[in-house]
Amino acid sequence: MSSVVTLSFPEPDIALLTLDDPTKGANILARPVLEEIAAHLTALERRSDLAGLIVRSLKPGIFIAGADIREFAAAKDITREQTIAIATEGRTLFERLARTPFPTVAAIDGICVGGGAELAVWCDRRLMTDSPKTQIGFPEVKLGMFPGWGGTVRTPRIVGLSNAVELITGGESIDGRAAVLMGLATDIVRTSTAPSPAAAADQLLQAAVALVRAEKQSGDYLRTREQWSQPIVMSETELGFLGATATAYITQQTKGQYPAPIAALNLMLEASQSDENAAGVQEAEAFAELFGTPVNRALINVFLLTDRNKKDTGVADRGLKPRPIASVGVIGAGIMGSGIAGACVKRELPVTLTDARPESLAGGMRKAVEEASYDRAAKGPTTERLLKFAPLVRAVVADSEFARCDLVIEAVVENEQAKRELYAKLESHLRDDAILASNTSAISIGRLASGLKHPERFCGIHFFNPVRKMPLVEVIRGPQTSDATIATAVGFAKGLGKSPIVVEDGPGFLVNRLLFPYMNEALELLTSGVSMKHVDGAAKAFGMPMGPITLYDVVGLDTALFAGSVMHDAFPDRVLASSLLEAMVKAGRLGQKSKVGFFAYKEKSDKGEPDPTFDAFLQPYLRPSPAKLEPQTITNRLFLPMLLEATRVLAEKKVRDPRDVDLGLIFGIGFPPFKGGLLCWADTLGAAKIVEMLKPLENLGARFAPTPLLLDLAKSGKKFYELNA
Ligand code: NAD
Repeated sequence: MSSVVTLSFPEPDIALLTLDDPTKGANILARPVLEEIAAHLTALERRSDLAGLIVRSLKPGIFIAGADIREFAAAKDITREQTIAIATEGRTLFERLARTPFPTVAAIDGICVGGGAELAVWCDRRLMTDSPKTQIGFPEVKLGMFPGWGGTVRTPRIVGLSNAVELITGGESIDGRAAVLMGLATDIVRTSTAPSPAAAADQLLQAAVALVRAEKQSGDYLRTREQWSQPIVMSETELGFLGATATAYITQQTKGQYPAPIAALNLMLEASQSDENAAGVQEAEAFAELFGTPVNRALINVFLLTDRNKKDTGVADRGLKPRPIASVGVIGAGIMGSGIAGACVKRELPVTLTDARPESLAGGMRKAVEEASYDRAAKGPTTERLLKFAPLVRAVVADSEFARCDLVIEAVVENEQAKRELYAKLESHLRDDAILASNTSAISIGRLASGLKHPERFCGIHFFNPVRKMPLVEVIRGPQTSDATIATAVGFAKGLGKSPIVVEDGPGFLVNRLLFPYMNEALELLTSGVSMKHVDGAAKAFGMPMGPITLYDVVGLDTALFAGSVMHDAFPDRVLASSLLEAMVKAGRLGQKSKVGFFAYKEKSDKGEPDPTFDAFLQPYLRPSPAKLEPQTITNRLFLPMLLEATRVLAEKKVRDPRDVDLGLIFGIGFPPFKGGLLCWADTLGAAKIVEMLKPLENLGARFAPTPLLLDLAKSGKKFYELNA
């Protein structure tokens, strides 16, 4: 087996451990790697002739990307005692970096997170390069855990309790500058101007050697070792204040649905008053309380979904490489077209943009450049970025201008006739190998392709609104779309930093098809006498970012009505046409955009307030049900139709893997990550239980009837996630 950790001696008295996993794109602290580190430490600890030890990585952009999450996923059934033993083993290994007879330095270039950051904090000192990729952080709370190899012990002792609470409960990484300010890193090494990666690595190494020698000579590291092994000095009042403010903040952020940050806070507050050894024991015990809990399992599932998506090429033939896209055309410079153009330009892909209306073209061009130039820190576009990106958008009016594009995305009005006329005019101008794609939300890709000379090079590339924020892209395969086209569309979307899923053509594709039964049921509940507050409240308590009634107002009731009619035409047996929705659109109650929908909106505000005239409006559509519905019944009525639709999507093989459903809903509509996805959630309940939950609802009609696939799983005891196995 090839080794990941090599020991060398750049100078006779300087030991250097270099991590570089030849088999992977990142260094991961899998068990065999920890064993290699342990073996090297055993050899080095005996040496009294060393001035110090440096730990570094030669993986470009990565120091250590963390522990091996797949090992965590596989360890789902281990006992509390086994979890404590694993945590203790990792911590006692890293502790040895703070017990050596010489100083230890982590020389960090690239990301250093999770278990990697724990290794780094157990070193006596940390240096970080000024590369924009160099970041240190503890993202464990995003997986429903906290650092369990001594990260919660050591970090507060180095940077102070308050800073550590922010780092560990927030899960965000910080760069070298912030790390130095906090005292987490000793210094920043400027390697960004080095002439080559080898020269940059050498600069960092030289700085680390100098630091080791200075520490060895001054003995400072021995003083901090002593100090950091003690309890943290803090008064009861200070501790109480930090606890109260941090608890309030975390509770507001997590809405009580993510237990890890609060558990990490409570642990750090308590263990701060113990010495280092006792704090380590407390950490392992508290870690075991979280490990393997449903939220932890669900969040690990989301990690695995994302990881799987990164490796998925979109087609069965893994050897089929996507064609590189060097130039993109976008037709229609409205909300979506300008967003798509902005996403391309941001990745330095030149865009040719057009629109039938000159004022839309000018506005779309400006919006694309501004979106690409948005800088998070500046909270807006910066001049430097505007100057960089503006030349990448070319506004044109003639179709012949698209002849140079590798890919042309159409984002004009949602009208089949208009789109088909456009393609007929455009196709002859496109290059022989160019791909044409539509951003349509609902029109059949097969129908749109029917007049094309090259339907094999046509597909849907469905971005979500707003493009800048939404990570999901549905790549829709029409009946004649080729694998090469799909692979290229998937590669293109990934190049924009998106998570594409491949979906077969069909009404609502994937996300809207699953969203619609849920939205539809919200109106059924409303017209049967359940208040808006209770409908939205049930969805939010389940973990949705907003309730379905609020979502109607955000999406626009006219858009929802149109999408609803597509679904109703396709599935009349189970999708009901809502006369309430129709009446609201007729009355100009379109939601946020018309300042009144289900809620009323003040000028310049998107925050809905109760509309006193709504009750009277609703009155004619009310058919109150005799019984008051329990919150659980409301929840079941909202989410079970969504789940049943997902079982039909699976049976019809609209997606290639059940996991695509979960990724699509989490990234497309904000389905709660702490439930792991719709089918992951269903798997935790089990199909048999779901059949039972449907029984009291079956009298509501076909939309609550268990599907053949659900009944099969209930009988066999199989899980949705096993369907592709
Ligand atoms: P929009 O009305 O904001 O923009 C459409 C633009 O296309 C307008 O500027 C219009 O002038 C232009 N246009 C119309 N016909 C044209 C033609 N023949 N040639 C050139 N330009 C033409 O619409 P939008 O919201 O950006 O939607 C565009 C497409 O994206 C639609 O198919 C829509 O269903 C889909 N979509 C919209 C959303 C959303 O939330 N808005 C989300 C996903 C997909």
